[in-house]
Amino acid sequence: MEKKRIALLGSTGSIGTQALEVIRGNPDRFSVEVLTAQTSLDLLVAQAVEFLPNAVVIGDEKHDEEIRKALAPYPVKVFSGPASIAQIVESESIDLVLNALVGFAGLEPTLRAIRAGKDIALANKETLVVAGDLVMKEALKNRVRILPVDSEHSAIFQCLAGEDPSHVEKLILTASGGPFRGKNKEHLAKATKEAALNHPKWKMGTKVTIDSSTLMNKGLEVIEARWLFGLAPRKIEVIIHPQSVIHSMVQFIDGSMKAQMGLPDMKLPILYALSYPGRMPTSFPRFSFRDCAELTFEIPDREVFRSLDLAYEALDEGGNMPCILNASNEVAVRAFLEDRIPFLDICEVVEKCMHSVNFVRDPGYEEYVATDCETRIKAWEFIRSKPET
Ligand code: MG
Repeated sequence: MEKKRIALLGSTGSIGTQALEVIRGNPDRFSVEVLTAQTSLDLLVAQAVEFLPNAVVIGDEKHDEEIRKALAPYPVKVFSGPASIAQIVESESIDLVLNALVGFAGLEPTLRAIRAGKDIALANKETLVVAGDLVMKEALKNRVRILPVDSEHSAIFQCLAGEDPSHVEKLILTASGGPFRGKNKEHLAKATKEAALNHPKWKMGTKVTIDSSTLMNKGLEVIEARWLFGLAPRKIEVIIHPQSVIHSMVQFIDGSMKAQMGLPDMKLPILYALSYPGRMPTSFPRFSFRDCAELTFEIPDREVFRSLDLAYEALDEGGNMPCILNASNEVAVRAFLEDRIPFLDICEVVEKCMHSVNFVRDPGYEEYVATDCETRIKAWEFIRSKPET
């Protein structure tokens, strides 16, 4: 069998390193064609020496000289700068692009890869949150697959295998509830970043962990699901499931429901996307009903966790509103991590931006870039205008 040649964008992050674990375990099935990282020079060099890809790209140009020197003895081409990341995905020798970048930065490489006819394994949910309509249209036009790596969407994708899409009644996205499940506003007002970063079930990157603590992650995932599976927002529900064993569910028109289950381990959805449409054996730990006899479910508290409603609102408004939601959230999460704003202000910044950034009904790529930029400026203005806490 031919090896699948993979370009891994964001190879030094949480998804990136786990994807390399999956690839390392299956050297006869996958080869690494391209690795890219933003700033983690040493880890990128170590990965390049181990996997000997055709090329590596470091996003931050200040590392250009150093990485060239480090990889000089190896048959690996070296590039630097964000433009090179967007360009390299078009290379002839790539079969599949795994996009594990964080935030808006993932959009351009996704679009370029789609237009070059590459299948996409998508971990960068912001790509679809910001410009889902555009991305899915381009994917259809260029006949490429968008394979979800987000665990909930991978679960739904697996539940839908062999089903007629017109038989779907609704999707039910599960959420762990994050570290502040069951807490009230008074508690959240004083929430520290250490507490927010302490996720009970999933080990993930910083951005998505904070998004999980506000439930914005689930809001972004509702938008992601809307585009991936082409369903109206009212057909997508969210339920809290603290054990994180059911990764999401699909209900069909006859009332039957399918759930995909397993231990919370991102290597599973990564492997499914890489090996799709097949499955491959693994020695990953198995879920056992003996160890976890009880699976429980709760309705999310939308009074306390406002971000879910904001995400549905953004979907209803359409146009560039989800892009505004995403950009303001990226800024607010960063400001929270830098101790500039308290926890509850994350949602407040997002809401203010949704009410003040210019609305565009039918944006194209350039308008999305302009919206992203305008929103970031507005979001920082709101943050600076607040009295010090
Ligand atoms: Mg997820």
